Amino acid sequence: MACTLSPSLAGFAAAAMDYFPAFLDLDGKSCLVVGGGEVAARKVRLLLAARARVTVVAPKLGASVAALVRAGRIVRVARRYDERDLDGQWLAVSATGDAEVDARVFADAGERRIFCNAVDRQENCSYITPAIVDRSPVLVAVSSAGRAPVLARRIRARIEADLPARLGDLAALAGRYRRYVLERLPELSRRLRFWERVFDGPAAEHALSGDLAAAAAEMTALLGAEDGGNKGLAWLTGAGPGDPDLLTFKALHALQSADVIVYDRLVSDQVLAFARRDAQRIAVGKTPGCRANSQDSINALLVRLVGSGKRVCRLKGGDPFVFGRGGEEAEALAAAGLDYRVIPGITAAAACAAYAGIPLTHRDCAQLLVFLTAHGRHSLAALDWPSLARARQTLAVYMGVGRFAELMDRLIGHGRPADTPIAIIERGTTPGQRVLRGTLGQLTLISAAHRVQAPAILLIGEVTARGRAEPLAEPDARPRRKTQAVPRPKLHKAESS
Ligand code: SAH
Repeated sequence: MACTLSPSLAGFAAAAMDYFPAFLDLDGKSCLVVGGGEVAARKVRLLLAARARVTVVAPKLGASVAALVRAGRIVRVARRYDERDLDGQWLAVSATGDAEVDARVFADAGERRIFCNAVDRQENCSYITPAIVDRSPVLVAVSSAGRAPVLARRIRARIEADLPARLGDLAALAGRYRRYVLERLPELSRRLRFWERVFDGPAAEHALSGDLAAAAAEMTALLGAEDGGNKGLAWLTGAGPGDPDLLTFKALHALQSADVIVYDRLVSDQVLAFARRDAQRIAVGKTPGCRANSQDSINALLVRLVGSGKRVCRLKGGDPFVFGRGGEEAEALAAAGLDYRVIPGITAAAACAAYAGIPLTHRDCAQLLVFLTAHGRHSLAALDWPSLARARQTLAVYMGVGRFAELMDRLIGHGRPADTPIAIIERGTTPGQRVLRGTLGQLTLISAAHRVQAPAILLIGEVTARGRAEPLAEPDARPRRKTQAVPRPKLHKAESS
């Protein structure tokens, strides 16, 4: 059965547009311009910009057209217009200023099915040229169908002001990637997301500020990130103990690729500063004594974000799998069938010891290294104290502030000598780092005298007496970190290291 438009719909469709908008490919195609004055010159230049082959027919030439002829850019026929001039042309422009000639060119062109524009004579036009904003390859054309040219020009001016000067570079760069992106991301939704990220993110910023190499690198990285994981993904990321220089490259990559950063209180601002500028940031910090986000709600948040297709950087202090509850988050994600990666970080014990110049193990006095936490009501009671109190081992106590008295009593009670050297490293690797040394028997006194606060790590064992007071491990002495002399509590002489 034949299908026709209903009359009302057909009428509406016809009335909706006076002209069919189109961009013509005139590359290498012959176009005729009748007339040799300044108006004709403007049209010639536009046609040449579109790489058309232009023939000008005119008995006399103005300076501009004459210059183009001399430069060999156009062909000139030095006589009055003849209808045979239209033979073989794709497009015609009549800019003679003579109404009779313009009308004739238009009529002749119509007979030959050649589109013709007689300048400033709309009745003799089968096409019109719009006002344009040129950021090639981006081209914006504005037309009022000849009814309000001033309005069209004002619209053009507004768009002109709105579009960055280097927009064309960005579009050209995107064009170079287009095929490649199509192959790498055959799924439309992922492709759309990729391009949104390009145009809304640092890639576009680089291109618009003229750094095309950086823009291309960003696009390649984005493509790699988009290609690697299917939908959502969580990186359970170790942010290290504070000093941003202790981030791993993988952590940096995760920070710069993630849509959302879910971070702990212990993560420093300098580390967060590496996140993508447009990334959403969610703090789930647990501050001692304050109402904290429960681990269940953090797990649920991660599952929800990753499940909705987000790429999440779950940023944790130190290493995610050392007293970081990374294991619980990994299990929650796995149980929900979601994808995650674990990026290890430098754990507080290792970093703080290094920055305090303390070797955690030593052949002479420490064969065993124990990481333990004093966190939780029943956790201390559950530990194997006879074993922990033995000689030739180093204990690294996480989350111990507030439980030093109990720790001290239990260790000494199980036989660790009271003169065993200890070190407390508070806010290790940050500009506010403090290293306090003494003996196990003075632990609570030292802590009280210096008002030790979390985060602080307690190292117990002979190795802590070996370390240098000044940090060994700092690669360069930047003012960012205090290198003040290590404060020592003035309690009694046995405590100094
Ligand atoms: N996942 C972390 C530990 C989290 S538990 C890691 O691998 O390091 C939090 C405890 O870590 C704190 O109470 C403190 O004991 C220790 N800690 C973390 N950052 C620290 C820092 N900059 N200085 C000293 N101790 C730190």
